Amino acid sequence: MRPRVIRQALRAESDPGGGAEAFSWAQVGRDLGIRPGGPVNMAYLAVDRHADSELADKPAFRFLAENRSPHDLSYRELARLTDRFGNALKSLGVQPGDSIFVLCGRRCELYVAVLGALKIGAIVSPLFPAFGPEPIRNRMAQAAGKVLVTTASAYLRKVEPIRGELPSLRHVVLVDDAGGGVVPETHGWEHLLHAASDVPALVATTAGDPALLHFTSGTTGMPKGALHVHAAILTHYATARIALDLRPDDLFWCTADPGWVTGMSYGILAPLAVGATCIVDEAEFDAARWVAILESEGVNVWYTAPTAIRMLMKAGPTLFAGHAFAALRFIASVGEPLNPEAVWWSMETFRLPIHDTWWQTETGGIMVANAAADDIRPGAMGRPVPGIAAHVVRHRAGEPVTVIETPETVGELALESGWPSMFGAYLGQPERYRECFAGNLYLSGDLVRRDADGYFWFVGRSDDVIKTAGHLIGPFEVESALMEHPAVAEAGVIGKPDALAGEVIKAFVALKHDVVPSDALRSELLAHARRRLGAAVAPKEIAFVECLPHTRSGKILRRLLKARELGLSEGDSSTLE
Ligand code: ATP
Ligand code: MG
Repeated sequence: MRPRVIRQALRAESDPGGGAEAFSWAQVGRDLGIRPGGPVNMAYLAVDRHADSELADKPAFRFLAENRSPHDLSYRELARLTDRFGNALKSLGVQPGDSIFVLCGRRCELYVAVLGALKIGAIVSPLFPAFGPEPIRNRMAQAAGKVLVTTASAYLRKVEPIRGELPSLRHVVLVDDAGGGVVPETHGWEHLLHAASDVPALVATTAGDPALLHFTSGTTGMPKGALHVHAAILTHYATARIALDLRPDDLFWCTADPGWVTGMSYGILAPLAVGATCIVDEAEFDAARWVAILESEGVNVWYTAPTAIRMLMKAGPTLFAGHAFAALRFIASVGEPLNPEAVWWSMETFRLPIHDTWWQTETGGIMVANAAADDIRPGAMGRPVPGIAAHVVRHRAGEPVTVIETPETVGELALESGWPSMFGAYLGQPERYRECFAGNLYLSGDLVRRDADGYFWFVGRSDDVIKTAGHLIGPFEVESALMEHPAVAEAGVIGKPDALAGEVIKAFVALKHDVVPSDALRSELLAHARRRLGAAVAPKEIAFVECLPHTRSGKILRRLLKARELGLSEGDSSTLE
């Protein structure tokens, strides 16, 4: 029988405020050297602040290319390059508040472009590099993107054909065009930077000035553009310390692409604000490569996603045999619920648990976490981080929102608004933004329950929750039970309309690579689920699938499973993997 709690040794270092009671955002600001009412600029706090300190010559980034040796970029060099790029943007006429889009793989220029643009007060919006022309056009048109930083091939294939539909797009900078002007109506990166000055480019932005535009994953529908301000870096910094246990001497690997909020908040800003070194793997997911990076680079803190963890689990134990992860101290995940089975797998594989963290594009940073100093309850999202007040609320159409105090009651997760990385707008959708708030509460759209000790447990997105024979069932619970079976690699669960029960539960199951689907296995899985969950909650139907549909950011797309099951239109598929 597995214990319900994994005990963690309390570490004072992970508590920058010196204890949860002492925490205040004002103190976090002072730790970062921000004067009350003074300028706040993310790129200054992440880069320039260290470039004249004892960290100046320490690598800010270590880039791992597929077939080249690692390339380090120091804080000093990053400060100089971002000044150059910032000045180059100024020379192109870019003003504070203008939108800059970045569309390229994880390479040095992407990071320089993002931080250089932030320095001069531009609003940065990184796009996932595999997007096709339509998601690119849609996002750039919404935000009136003025500059696009991309590669020659991405430009020629995806942007040039639609450039006429993007009247606000003035300049395109090609990161791989060393000569300059090889492609008509574009600028070459090298040429542009060479011509620019490296005097400080910093513009004195304020805490409330817009800095980042991130589009949501599109799991529940059309992606929304969430706008974040420069002060968000206070959340990034504080949560990196508290929830990820990140320290300046750490080698940190966040596996998310900067095209998603995780890759920006924790793949760039948080670790740099702390003064750590970030690993950037330029290659795509490859289980053996990831094991090699964790081991041979000596990663200390690893922030990844349940989908990646499930892929590593699927690869089988032989991949990990004989490897020691001596430097690895802390593992965390975000993006989807973390099945308890994954936590136990991690205990066996790395001798460390995975710390689940919950947050959204809208929240800009970690809000609920199994923090470094907290015991872990496998399957729980954890507790609100210091500075965040979270509640479970009852929220029904046409009724006032009320806070539920009774533990173990399912309701919507709501956060008291006003934390530094809270989104300030949904681009072009003011009404939708207003609908996210009830008084001072931000309504997350996720259903949770809170146990008597204050741990939050994810039940499901309000859109995904299944109502069957009078019960309210979250797909996560059913999926986690199925994942416990040794044959199952991944499961997606939906409610299928039923005249009698309202909905019946149907599970789509992807099997581990060496398992053959059969009717006998289906019966075994149905019986396993009934044993684990009881007849009311267990699926009535199981379909075997080769793989489940995911968003490009790696989340199971239950709405698509449902639409396919019902023969309906698949809706927006621009962020389908
Ligand atoms: P869209 O809003 O476009 O439908 P999305 O909600 O998937 O897409 P993101 O902002 O990338 O876009 O994802 C946030 C959501 O991911 C959360 O609201 C939650 O549903 C899910 N999520 C993130 N972390 C966790 C976690 N630790 N446990 C459970 N769910 C999580
Ligand atoms: Mg969402």
